[in-house]
Parts: sequence; structure tokens; C-alpha cells
Amino acid sequence: MGIRTGAQYIQGLKSRKPEVWLQGRKVTNLFDEPVFKQPILEIAKLYDMQHDPKYQERITHICEETGERVNNAFLVPKSYDDLMKRREVFEVFARATFGLMGRTPDFLNVVVTSMYYNSWFFEKYNKDWAVNIRNYYKYLRGNDLFLTHAIINPQNDRSKSSHEQKDIYTHLGAVKETPEGLVVRGAKMLATLAPITDEVIIYSFPGFKPGDERYALAFALPIDTPGLRIICREQMQDGTRSLFDHPLASRFEEMDALLVFDDVVVPWDRVFLYNNVEAANQLYPMTGAGQQPAHQSGVRGLIKLQFAVEVAMKLADSIGVDVYLNVQDQLGELIQSLESIRALLRTAEIEYTITEHGEALPAYIPLETIRGLLPTMYPRAIEVMQIVGAGGLLMSPTGADFVNEELREAIDHYYVGREGVSSFDRVSIFKLAWDLCGEAFGQRLLQYERYYTGDPIRKRAIFYNNYKRQHSLDLVDEALKVSVLEKELLTK
Ligand SMILES: Cc1cc2nc3c(=O)[nH]c(=O)nc-3n(C[C@H](O)[C@H](O)[C@H](O)COP(=O)(O)OP(=O)(O)OC[C@H]3O[C@@H](n4cnc5c(N)ncnc54)[C@H](O)[C@@H]3O)c2cc1C
Repeated sequence: MGIRTGAQYIQGLKSRKPEVWLQGRKVTNLFDEPVFKQPILEIAKLYDMQHDPKYQERITHICEETGERVNNAFLVPKSYDDLMKRREVFEVFARATFGLMGRTPDFLNVVVTSMYYNSWFFEKYNKDWAVNIRNYYKYLRGNDLFLTHAIINPQNDRSKSSHEQKDIYTHLGAVKETPEGLVVRGAKMLATLAPITDEVIIYSFPGFKPGDERYALAFALPIDTPGLRIICREQMQDGTRSLFDHPLASRFEEMDALLVFDDVVVPWDRVFLYNNVEAANQLYPMTGAGQQPAHQSGVRGLIKLQFAVEVAMKLADSIGVDVYLNVQDQLGELIQSLESIRALLRTAEIEYTITEHGEALPAYIPLETIRGLLPTMYPRAIEVMQIVGAGGLLMSPTGADFVNEELREAIDHYYVGREGVSSFDRVSIFKLAWDLCGEAFGQRLLQYERYYTGDPIRKRAIFYNNYKRQHSLDLVDEALKVSVLEKELLTK
């Protein structure tokens, strides 16, 4: 089949009945559930872009193996040009969603593509796992599917490992083997967009200890597999708020969910790893599952930051406060953050390396630097937006006030901006800003940037240790040579 249309994606959703729980009730019709409807349509637009002549050549290619047209996220990059082809889809999808949807289909399709190309890793441990991941990639590519993933355990007692929790099946673990497949039980935390995806893939960050064998798992399943419960967090919008009042929150809510596996059978051909602590700890660093999607999140993060910076600038301009030195200083700082991320991303692409297996990898250090800096740069952009917008952020009238004839004159008069900025334009930009920096929707976007790729503190510590291992401290050694000479002189 190859690339799907938006209608085909929606048809796929309608054909399934996942067990989705939202605020205490089971959702029976996902498509018509207000909190999901607009996000489904936003994802459908991305699928449609694959057929739009304006984007098709940029974001898709003809698969050499099948002759079908497929998304560039399924391209195994073997050169700089391939990396740039793949970047195109990251950029087009991120621009279409202002970088506000982190888990668009390209994200996990890159993860599986990377696991597929590095199936040598799975083969080291078990030939069947390697066959399974290869077949799964082909299945995803051929059907253009949309995945969610859940890689961390719920926050129960973080001071203990999985097997030390009060109930050994609190964290997702294997229960028993059956001829049909592996039976799994327990929960995984935080699968973004789970209710509106086609499939879920489970794998983990490293950190397994001896004794954790039953939790050392990787597999994939259709999202409506019997026994899989999707428990959503509280919705941040109910689908009834207008596009004018909440121009972002009403479109881009990415629902997050806890996944509970109630003795779910994972067919053997969907098991990619099982009962092997060493393999589970190595999967993330060795298969590119960490580094390849960092390219997607770097591009998406750049666009999200650019959007936030532009909103802050337009906000300041609309009420004439960017004539002041302090405001210029803060906005200038944001632009410099943005340009730093842009430069790091280009460095990651230009300084790509080719692995011994022939895969092009964007450079680790600049990508990891982006991952380290965005968790502070994005919240800072939001803080500056709050400081610059000040009281006005809370004071916007609603669309209903605008259309009320009794109020219209007063609104036009008192909400007008600096010369040349109408009340409508001034209120519109303030509403955009409030969705980003005030609404619960905006707070989730901020928390996403802090944590979507793991705990930034532990990530930076790993980065430091890798950097130390890979770099000699040449300059210091050079400087110390003088001291060595001195030492010889002194000890003569
Ligand atoms: C909006 C959002 C969307 C997300 N989407 C997804 C998704 O789609 N799929 C997915 O799999 N995950 C997703 N994540 C989860 C993300 O991977 C985790 O939030 C992240 O890995 C941090 O884990 P945690 O939230 O369990 O925090 P914890 O690991 O529990 O950390 C909590 C605090 O305790 C400290 N801490 C905890 N353990 C240690 C330790 N061992 N050593 C030192 N300090 C420690 C941390 O520094 C932190 O301050 C998402 C997260 C967010 C916020």
C-alpha cells in the first residue's frame, strides 16, 4: 500500500476498538470524542501532505524493495543526502503543527527503522528477534502506521528496581510463556497520543539490574489488543472552546496515557527482546533508537522554540513595549537561544558519521547538547513571554464579547494596541501567547520539553561521562608539559 491518506488513517482508527478510559468513562467512539477529534484531524492532515504535490517529493520516496511510495521516516540513511531527505519530513510535519505535537508518526517510525537496520544487534541474542523486528518494520512501512510508545515504568517507588516493588507486576513484566505468545502484566507510564494511534511499541531506557529479567522486554502490539487498557490523563480542553479563544489548545492537545496490560498475549512474532537484562540495557544505545530520533526531536524542538520566540516578539511589538532596553535584552536572549539550537542542528547534520554497518548517524555531541539545552531554553522563552505580556495575558475578551454589538465599540477602543495594531490583532496574539504560557495546555508543552527524552539531569551526567571517555584533554596536557619540564629542573 505505502503512503496513506488522512481518510485512510481515520478509517483505520474507526475500524478498531481500543479500551480507552477518559475521566472515569470508557470512550466508545474515539473519532467523535471532542478531546480527540481535532488532534485526529491534525494528524490526518499530515498523512494528506504525503499526497500533496507541494510536499510529496520532499517527504516521501519510492521504496527500492517494494516499488511503493513511502514516507522518508522509513528511509535508512546511508549518506548526508539521506539524512537531509529525512530531515525534510521532520521539518514539514513540525511546521504543520508548530512543533507542538512531539509524537507525530515520523518520530517512532524512525525508531523502528533504526532498530530494523541494526537487527544485527537482536541477532546476537536471538535469531527470531532479528527476524521479528525486520518483518515489523516492513509491516509498518507497507501500511504507513502510526505508533505510540511507552518506555518508562510508572512512578511507584523509584528508590527500588522493578523486581523490588511491592507487587512484582506493578511494572510491566512477563508472566509466562504459552504456545500463542508471551503473557505480560503490569503498567508502563506515559504513552503520548496512545488513543489515536494504530500500534504500541514497548522498550526501555537502560537501567535493568540482575533480578529484573522479567521486565527486560521489547515488543509491539495493535493498540486494540484485548487486555490492554489505556487510562488517559485529565483532558486539558473539552473540544467545545473556540478556535479564536484557544487557537492552539483547541487543535494540538496530545493526550498522554498510562498503559495497563492485563495478562496480554504478545504473539511470538511480535517479541523483539525478552528475559535478557544485558540486551535490554544495550538496545537503546546500540540500535540508534536513542540517537536517530534525536534528529527528529532536534528539528521539532527548533521549530517549537522558533514559534515561541516569534510569539513573544509579536506580543511585545503589539503593545509597543519592545522599545525598552530590558525587553529588547530578553527578546535578544531568546533569539540567541534559537540561533544556538539552529547551529547545533546543522553541526549534527554536517558532522554525521557512518557506522561500521553503513548507517549515517547525525553527530552525537551537538544532538545531545540540544537535548540538554532545550529543557531550559524553552521554559525561559515561556517565562519571557509571561514577563513581557504581563497583566494583559489574563485580560483578553472572548470571541463572544467581540461579536456582541453592545460591547464591540468598547472592545475596539480599549483593547487596541500600538499605532497600527487593531484590537482584534492585539487580542489574537495575546490569546496565542496565553495558550502557550498560561493554559494547562502550555504547561504540558513545557513539561514535555523538560522530560520527553528522559530526565535531563541523568542525561547530562551520561553525556559528561561519554565526553570524558572520548576526549583527551589536549590543551591541559600541553600546558602541563611546561610544568613537567619545571618538575625535572626542580628535582635535579
Ligand atoms: C508531556 C510528556 C510526554 C511524554 N511522552 C512519553 C511517551 O510518549 N512515551 C514514553 O515512553 N515516555 C514519555 N514521557 C516520559 C518521559 O520519558 C519521562 O517523563 C522521563 O523519562 C522522566 O521519567 P519520570 O517522569 O518517570 O521521572 P522520574 O525518573 O521519576 O524522575 C523524577 C525526579 O526524580 C529524580 N530521579 C528519579 N530517579 C533518579 C535516579 N535514579 N537518580 C537521580 N535522580 C533521580 C529526577 O531527576 C527527577 O527530578 C513523556 C513525558 C512527558 C512529561
